[in-house]
Amino acid sequence: MSEGATEGSLEGGAPASPPDVFDVAVIGGGPAGTQAAVSVAHQMRSVLVLEAGPVSQRKGRAFWSKSVEFLDVPTFRAITGPKLAVALREWMAAQPGHVTSIGGTPRHVGIWRRAGMVLRVTRVPAPECEPAPAGFLYEIRASTRPLKAGEPLKIERFRARTLVVASGFEDIWPDIDVTEGANRLYQSHRVVFRYAGNRKGWHVCIRCDGHLHVDKHLAVVGSGDFAWSIARGAQDFTPEVTILTNGADPDMSEARLATLRARGIAIETEPIVAHVGKGTDLLGLRLASGREVMADGFFVDYSLKANREYLSPDDGWDLKVDEEGLLVVDEDGAVLGPDGEPVPGLFAAGDIVSGQRNLIATAFGLGQNAGLSAADLMREW
Ligand SMILES: Cc1cc2nc3c(=O)[nH]c(=O)nc-3n(C[C@H](O)[C@H](O)[C@H](O)COP(=O)(O)OP(=O)(O)OC[C@H]3O[C@@H](n4cnc5c(N)ncnc54)[C@H](O)[C@@H]3O)c2cc1C
Repeated sequence: MSEGATEGSLEGGAPASPPDVFDVAVIGGGPAGTQAAVSVAHQMRSVLVLEAGPVSQRKGRAFWSKSVEFLDVPTFRAITGPKLAVALREWMAAQPGHVTSIGGTPRHVGIWRRAGMVLRVTRVPAPECEPAPAGFLYEIRASTRPLKAGEPLKIERFRARTLVVASGFEDIWPDIDVTEGANRLYQSHRVVFRYAGNRKGWHVCIRCDGHLHVDKHLAVVGSGDFAWSIARGAQDFTPEVTILTNGADPDMSEARLATLRARGIAIETEPIVAHVGKGTDLLGLRLASGREVMADGFFVDYSLKANREYLSPDDGWDLKVDEEGLLVVDEDGAVLGPDGEPVPGLFAAGDIVSGQRNLIATAFGLGQNAGLSAADLMREW
């Protein structure tokens, strides 16, 4: 019996008891996970969505993305990041988990949502009575209530026949104004989060937010390929760009440096010591010498950390990943092992997938692909 699914309260008022084993479990309720769940439910399967947002600061890139309006998100015209997160939840709530009859056989179908930060995923043998198209079941352990000092974690277990990983990634932020001794992600980055997604603040995606600063001065924080590609992309919006390497070597070829010079793009190599801001508006960056570089928008690309720590090598997970740690999938969204073969019953979608555009419309498309592939696997039995 799936312990957590029976004793935990369900969000969204799902009217029926959940099944012991879900057809599909989805980790992450951002655009990719939501679309995967909706597509699975649409094929008359039972789907569990585990979503870290309500119990942690890991609310997803869609949530943190914008306090101003998106311009390129399908159908959600002029919506902010936090409002998009609510709209996604409402979309899932419209297909609540329930029991229906197909050919006289009762079947669990629809979406069960649970607040839960997934900590561990293992493979367990399927009991005789449980069909298992992958040859085993996925057992998922999640922390299901917000962390409080002095209180132990509440860990619940869930089981599913297939798994869709849609937990995205965390952007790596530069260590500017980071408090000494901070012990949690949100604390240690509270200053930069405050600015993230504002019209006047940090941005991580030139394609997403370049339009907010047309013909204005942009500061690009980074070096090497990251800084080069943002500075190149920035040219679509403005010729006024300064690269700040934050104490690092610019790490660019002479040809690239010559191109930047020819375009009037300055490179500042001094370390950055502080934000210069007013309210939640970021206005500039103070360099070690005390000099301040003021700009209209601030773009950073310091790499990323894929949210897949729950697929640990200690539990036998050996997956094909790219140089950034993102999962490599085939055309069905199936996650590949190191031999290039799909891992049975394991799919991935959204930002956590290697080689994709990290955008919301792409996440929806990848979510649908992975969700339908997982649902199709159930046809085997
Ligand atoms: C500042 C900024 C601006 C952006 N602007 C745009 C834009 O204008 N247009 C655009 O198309 N895209 C934009 N993006 C990109 C867009 O937000 C992402 O491409 C998109 O959100 C990816 O969707 P996803 O579902 O893969 O991941 P996410 O949206 O990151 O969702 C991942 C989900 O997984 C959950 N999760 C993570 N770890 C766990 C775990 N262990 N257990 C359970 N749940 C977990 C999180 O809580 C979250 O809900 C922007 C991003 C940022 C950061």
